Amino acid sequence: MQEETVQIQNFIDGHFVRPTNGRYLDNIEPATGKTYSQVPDSDAADVELAVAAAEKAFPLWSRTTAAERSRVLLRIADLIDRDLEKLARAESIDTGKPISLARSLDIPRASSNFRFFATAILHTENEAHVTDGVAFNYTLRQPRGVVGLISPWNLPLYLLSWKIAPAIAVGNTAVAKPSELTPMTAYLLGAICQEAGLPNGVLNIVQGTGPNVGAVITAHPKVGTISFTGGTVTGRKVAEAGAPLFKKISLELGGKNPNIIFADADLDAAIAGSVRSSFANQGQVCLCGSRVFVERPLYDEFVRRFTARVSQLEQGDPLESATEQGAIVSKMQLEKVKFYVDLAREEGGDVVLGGFRSAPPNERCRDGYFFPPTIITGLPVSCRVNREEIFGPVVTITPFESEEEVIRYANDVDYGLSSSVWTQNLSRAHRVAEQIHTGTVWINCWLVRDLRVPFGGMKQSGVGREGGEEALRFFTEPKNVCIAKA
Ligand code: NDP
Repeated sequence: MQEETVQIQNFIDGHFVRPTNGRYLDNIEPATGKTYSQVPDSDAADVELAVAAAEKAFPLWSRTTAAERSRVLLRIADLIDRDLEKLARAESIDTGKPISLARSLDIPRASSNFRFFATAILHTENEAHVTDGVAFNYTLRQPRGVVGLISPWNLPLYLLSWKIAPAIAVGNTAVAKPSELTPMTAYLLGAICQEAGLPNGVLNIVQGTGPNVGAVITAHPKVGTISFTGGTVTGRKVAEAGAPLFKKISLELGGKNPNIIFADADLDAAIAGSVRSSFANQGQVCLCGSRVFVERPLYDEFVRRFTARVSQLEQGDPLESATEQGAIVSKMQLEKVKFYVDLAREEGGDVVLGGFRSAPPNERCRDGYFFPPTIITGLPVSCRVNREEIFGPVVTITPFESEEEVIRYANDVDYGLSSSVWTQNLSRAHRVAEQIHTGTVWINCWLVRDLRVPFGGMKQSGVGREGGEEALRFFTEPKNVCIAKA
């Protein structure tokens, strides 16, 4: 079916508007390599309009009762559910991800984000501290004002809604910027917010590039709070822009996550889990376990069985329901993946599966950006391929001899986002979890996400935590009110 070419617009003050400079960028469908829509190439003037709209909306929205804010957010969640198929299709076309994944993960998670924070704000408590015989203190948690929300291309609506929902639930107003590579579902969300009755200016979405829009939001003096998810290099720029203005910043950044399989693991479960953690969304999930470590006695069998399973993954047109591996998000990202696979060969790696650009799955996808799941063995732990984030369908497998050794390997990178550990020994599981330097440790599972838990990274994987109570705290300002007793 031929998709209609759409001209995406910014969503400012409750209205869809063209960028003030009138410029648009081509938005390419990764599965075909062809332009299928146009995205505003906005600049500082559009950010100004969005900030002004958010500022104007703040006094009323921040005083709206929690019950009313909750009602609007629940309506947004319901409308996302209603539009599941439309949004899943849009996400699949925009990112190249299998439509089955968008249907089962991305879009349901977006509505869960709104529903979770819509109800969380109905159940908050404020702390009180009694100062013996002298005074009584209570903590007011108030919205911070206009917040800036910047998200990447890999899980577009999932991650943007993970920021928007808590930010506006507690009474802030927002200026959001999706990745210029994947603008479509944010555009559709604007219409859903209109229909749900979200007051004008509470959410503003400015589309465009990182330098022309993202950097302007992060440097804007009236945007005092920034929640950013993206790469570590960009995160550093965001931190540099915000520091002189003492902004409150949350950074969710890259990862090089270890996936550790001990010889006593349930091997069937470890293989099934590792196939997902290695290649879900073509390996383009910040939490993917791109470094697999297997205890020596199990190593050969694991490599053989894991490779056999991965070779059966169905790579195909993302819009086909049976497809398990879709396209890489952009030509640039495809080139990056190829670069690292070539580098792995130079560094002495043995490419046991994949490694070369795959043939297109059908005529429609003739010029698409496809790369097969790729497995590399025989690399030293310290080489670049084992230290730098590739963010594609590439994993390395390395044997280890002892618990102590694998903990050292796991921690010997600049990143610290997540890890998985597969073992049936409960004591070992606790011991290893305690010693791994990552913000999340999964034992005998991967990507099990409870929206109440703190989420974030250590080291260069980020600063701060979001999720549940942490997000409500991040997007509010705690103010102590002290009342003298006498
Ligand atoms: P980028 O860092 O390139 O981009 C993230 C967002 O920042 C995009 O919207 C981008 O705009 C924008 N941006 C670019 N430059 C600037 C700037 N100077 N100031 C402000 N904003 C800017 O990341 P990717 O989009 O390539 O996403 C992949 C990365 O995200 C990976 O490193 C991955 O690990 C990480 N990630 C982390 C997660 C976590 O929770 N820790 C979750 C998901 C991904 P544009 O794209 O339009 O240029």
